[in-house]
Amino acid sequence: MGKPTGFMEYDRQENKAEEPLKRIKDFKEFHYSLDEGERRKQAARCMNCGVPFCQNGQLIGGMMSGCPLNNLIPEWGELLYRGGTELALERLLMTNPFPEFTSRVCPALCEKACICGVNDSPVTVRDNERMIIEYGFEKGLMQPTVQQHRTGKRIAVIGSGPAGLSAAEMLSKRGHDVTVFEREDAPGGLLMYGIPNMKLEKEVIKRRIALMEAQGVEFCTNSNVGGNVKASDIDKEFDAVILACGAGKARDIKADGRDALGIRFAVDYLKDCTKALMSGNKPLEAKDRNVVVIGGGDTGNDCVGTAIRQGCKSVTQLEMMPKLPDERAADNPYPEWPKVCKTDYGQEEAAALFGHDPRVYQTTVKEFIKNEKGELTAIKTVALDFSKGKMTQVEGSEKTIPCELALIAAGFLGCEEYIAEAFGVKLTERNRLDTKSHHLGGKLFCAGDAHIGQSLVVRAIREGIDCARETDEYLLGYTPL
Ligand SMILES: Cc1cc2nc3c(=O)[nH]c(=O)nc-3n(C[C@H](O)[C@H](O)[C@H](O)COP(=O)(O)OP(=O)(O)OC[C@H]3O[C@@H](n4cnc5c(N)ncnc54)[C@H](O)[C@@H]3O)c2cc1C
Repeated sequence: MGKPTGFMEYDRQENKAEEPLKRIKDFKEFHYSLDEGERRKQAARCMNCGVPFCQNGQLIGGMMSGCPLNNLIPEWGELLYRGGTELALERLLMTNPFPEFTSRVCPALCEKACICGVNDSPVTVRDNERMIIEYGFEKGLMQPTVQQHRTGKRIAVIGSGPAGLSAAEMLSKRGHDVTVFEREDAPGGLLMYGIPNMKLEKEVIKRRIALMEAQGVEFCTNSNVGGNVKASDIDKEFDAVILACGAGKARDIKADGRDALGIRFAVDYLKDCTKALMSGNKPLEAKDRNVVVIGGGDTGNDCVGTAIRQGCKSVTQLEMMPKLPDERAADNPYPEWPKVCKTDYGQEEAAALFGHDPRVYQTTVKEFIKNEKGELTAIKTVALDFSKGKMTQVEGSEKTIPCELALIAAGFLGCEEYIAEAFGVKLTERNRLDTKSHHLGGKLFCAGDAHIGQSLVVRAIREGIDCARETDEYLLGYTPL
């Protein structure tokens, strides 16, 4: 334990966020780091409780609690407090290949499982992690690990999201020759073309890709395996193939008028925005338009924050489910993931700009209304009732709201079929690659959302690590990974 009285002396202090009305003026990240002294005090708040659920990622009640990477949080917290940031970095990198991603976008499962949070506020684990990894980059400590002893084995990774990247990172460090195929024009998966810049600036991804390239990983972009790149060629050329192609099949909304112009899937909309920013253009798709986001989750929140930055006239977010309670319910005790109402950055910004929370609960789309040119002009909504043990529409509750841009953020239906077909592997009923381990048979392996369904960056990284171990063992008969 760094400082026995730490959590009693110091209150939790998160990295400060820029005011909502200021930060919506651009698409930059908007959290400021504490200075080193203040950050060390925050690290001192870890009481080294002896039952560190924070580092013990496990599924409780079907939801993840604690860090899936088993980050050694109390250990690097103590090192950070004592001023041993370099040692803290070493300890952090033992379990997490990409702390610069998780410390920006992870919902901090560790903090929800922190004992300090039972009666007080939890340790700022995520912000501490960010300080440690950014210290590593600033001080030039993040260098490629070029393995001199080469195994001579060639591995293809299909998909460059966090799962594919972590598998590639582990296997290249082991001395295998790794090639990553990505159908988009840049690597990163949803880190690059899903999660908006405000949460993860794209330079952070490019910085990591450059390190991996220097380590010997080859990236082939614009390479759609099963499309312009033949699966049979990959199969011939490589000793092992890892499918880490995500769960990109978006759930659609079935309602009259669905063919109206102005209805888009959330990820396509977010991707176009990032692409415009990367090419130096101002993304204006939502400008002066009434936007309705269909889906109350995190992707929907990213659409709210993006539409606001693009200058939308109004934004409404429809959520089918009832509002969650503000505090944990009795049947949702610590250390379970807290099922409580969270107000995320986009919703905070909408409230600051338009004077109210954009979310409308227990409501869905009944009809998309279009004009004679086929353009979307409004959405007819209907309220939902769950009191009879099933979801029913409330008669007479229909409302019409003006809308020229509707963004569907209603979740994902798993892996796209063509990739499974290209390699002749089976999908489960829920469109996931069908294996309990990561081995699909023969030289084929899988990792990430394609395997476990749409999840989190931290879980995708874990998947990549576990898959790398199995692949290494298959290739060499044992693994030290
Ligand atoms: C909008 C949005 C915001 C999110 N925000 C967060 C967040 O803040 N925090 C968090 O923890 N999680 C977040 N998530 C979830 C998280 O991004 C995913 O769980 C994670 O990226 C999954 O990683 P993956 O590597 O399995 O797949 P992906 O990141 O989806 O990457 C798969 C890659 O494979 C490529 N690919 C697919 N098929 C082929 C093919 N045939 N050939 C070549 N390439 C192919 C795709 O183009 C893609 O780049 C978010 C998701 C979305 C949609």
